[in-house]
Amino acid sequence: MLIIGTTAINFTRDTGTFHCPNCEAHTEYRRRIARQFLTLYFVPLIPLKQVGEFVECRACKNSFRPDVIDMSPEQIREAAEIAFFENAYRIMVLIMIADGTVDEEELETIRRLVAEFTNEETTVDDIVEQAKAAAHALDRGYDAVRYSREASGQWSDEQKESVIRMCFLVATASGELMPSQNNQLQRMRFALKIDEERFRQIIERASQEQI
Ligand SMILES: [Zn+2]
Repeated sequence: MLIIGTTAINFTRDTGTFHCPNCEAHTEYRRRIARQFLTLYFVPLIPLKQVGEFVECRACKNSFRPDVIDMSPEQIREAAEIAFFENAYRIMVLIMIADGTVDEEELETIRRLVAEFTNEETTVDDIVEQAKAAAHALDRGYDAVRYSREASGQWSDEQKESVIRMCFLVATASGELMPSQNNQLQRMRFALKIDEERFRQIIERASQEQI
């Protein structure tokens, strides 16, 4: 029996130096191209198509999108800040829809937190749109806990803390923290590797800022 399949192989296109977003330092990179090959008995034979290009830091081995090599440290910080906020926004929305309902207080809390973070006004309609997209993710098993675990690789302690605070404020926007919500926050604490004492302090501070 002939076994024909495909495999992806990475090629180095060029090398150079850049500001690595993960190392936060000037390091060497390899620009790599992943190409799909037709294989026979698992041996790559025929190149099929280019499936992706990425930049790999030779120090930390993390991969980044190719345009990172032209970005200044300042631009990288800004891009990381935006990416963090987009993830935090998605996590807040996942917390909001976790109980199966969306109410006005929750929407208002998210609107206020988005304004606090971005200095930009968002509308309730925009948050509802986000909620629809998040509902699809939730159907595929991407709840706030899983999303946090996968998105938090490069978050600082301060960023982790701010996500817990935001989630607490959204979860309690329309009343007391329900046992299921408390359980979800505890699982987020594990996902973000925050110790119990620190978590208690974050929740205590957040509950004091509630009006
Ligand atoms: Zn690096």
